[in-house]
Amino acid sequence: MTSLYGRRKSLNQARSGNSTSNLLTNQQFSQHRQQLQHRVSHYQVPEHQRASLCQLIGQETLQGSRAMKDANFTTASHSDLSRMAQLYDRHFLGGHCFPLAKHFGLQFRWSSRMTSNGGKTVRTVHHDRLRNVQRTSYEIVLSAPLLFQTFNDYQRPIRVTGVLCSNRLQAMQRIMEHELIHLVEMLVWDNSCCASARFQNIAQRLFGHTEHKHDLITQQERAERKFNIRVGMQVCFQFEGRLRVGRVNRITRRATILVEDPAGQMYDDGLRYNKYYIPLAHLAPAAK
Ligand SMILES: [Zn+2]
Repeated sequence: MTSLYGRRKSLNQARSGNSTSNLLTNQQFSQHRQQLQHRVSHYQVPEHQRASLCQLIGQETLQGSRAMKDANFTTASHSDLSRMAQLYDRHFLGGHCFPLAKHFGLQFRWSSRMTSNGGKTVRTVHHDRLRNVQRTSYEIVLSAPLLFQTFNDYQRPIRVTGVLCSNRLQAMQRIMEHELIHLVEMLVWDNSCCASARFQNIAQRLFGHTEHKHDLITQQERAERKFNIRVGMQVCFQFEGRLRVGRVNRITRRATILVEDPAGQMYDDGLRYNKYYIPLAHLAPAAK
């Protein structure tokens, strides 16, 4: 499995900063905000219509992508996230979300470090001390590890936001829908919380979400199911031609193994360890 989180070029393409062309007049700004608030507060999308719109958005995302080849794509770029979000804005949000967000500055990014959250929406306020002004920008980030290790070598039914997903594209869409509600709430009400009644009400009416969580396959789950490796267990591995035995301390893309060594670093159990980062496939449970 290879995953491309986007090149610099596509990062720049996905960045819609607040250049002067994106700036709205006060009147345009308040019109978009009012209409967006009205839409997400009252709009109800019937299930059959939602299903066909989501399918259309998925197809158009694939067709417009140079990286994504099919619904279980193995590469995707930052601009694919931006294009998908823009389609959601057009089909579900009346085209009012993007102009508002771009007025401030809006970016999309895949993260290779997010290993428990499927996505996040971040508002950053920059203080320009010289000119004594504040500048706000928004960023939507999706987890590459969670999406790319789900629908991969270990299979089970996957629900994201309470909706059963049968491929990676559908899981990506559910996460994007969730994050777009965060963005809309921040733009309209300044605050957003997916545990709140307002968020869940919007998520249900627009996208049919019944939960605000995902059960994508985490690195810990994959390590356990596919390699029989868990945090806390004793494992052995070859390193520089020698067999070493240690304890699994953490599992991310690789496992962190602590091997007792009098010359190592002192840990809070009073013992000294050397730390190794080892690919999961190179570990075996140690014989007891
Ligand atoms: Zn959330």
